[in-house]
Amino acid sequence: MDFAKQVKSSVDIVRFIGEYVRLKKAGTRYVGLCPFHTEKTPSFGVNAVHQFYKCFGCGAGGDIFKFVMELEGVTFFEALKTIAERNGIPMPTRAEYSDPETKQRAALLKMHEIAAQLFQSNLNSSMGAHARQYLEQRGVAAEHIAEFGLGLSADSWEQLTKKLEQEGFSAEQLEFSGLSTRRQESGGFYDRTCIARKRVSGSSIAPF
Ligand code: ZN
Repeated sequence: MDFAKQVKSSVDIVRFIGEYVRLKKAGTRYVGLCPFHTEKTPSFGVNAVHQFYKCFGCGAGGDIFKFVMELEGVTFFEALKTIAERNGIPMPTRAEYSDPETKQRAALLKMHEIAAQLFQSNLNSSMGAHARQYLEQRGVAAEHIAEFGLGLSADSWEQLTKKLEQEGFSAEQLEFSGLSTRRQESGGFYDRTCIARKRVSGSSIAPF
């Protein structure tokens, strides 16, 4: 059985939600005031048999994971962790997730996350003044910059590569991520975004 299923089957949703909402028994259901919308008469119910909640007022509904995700605005994984911790169920150790492929995928995601954050902060910094002006001229609104995660690759050949190396990523990971390119002559790596920048001559805006 996978860990999420194990957690779900060992935690009673009525008792769990009961810590957030005052619930009253009504047949096989438990009812209370909905935590997802404001109401004076209860339209929120928890089904003890099938282990789900449903609100007839606002339509919210789901299982215990959905409840925590919606209420606390967290991801599935964070919800799983919260529920497991609160019920004294130990999370699987990292070793169980450490097959090479999973590790590699996690490293790649992390690297791209670091790149996105770095490029976004470049765009918002003083070095991004020109790029911001350019985007404004092109009619790209601030909300779109945020929505699409637009960023700016620095005008140094290795800002990102250095950052990734500092974070402890290996040469193999740098190359595999597609974010850095190996230097032909001297060895070592530089940012691949620099090549893109040369190609679009002058414009240093790298969509990310
Ligand atoms: Zn509701």
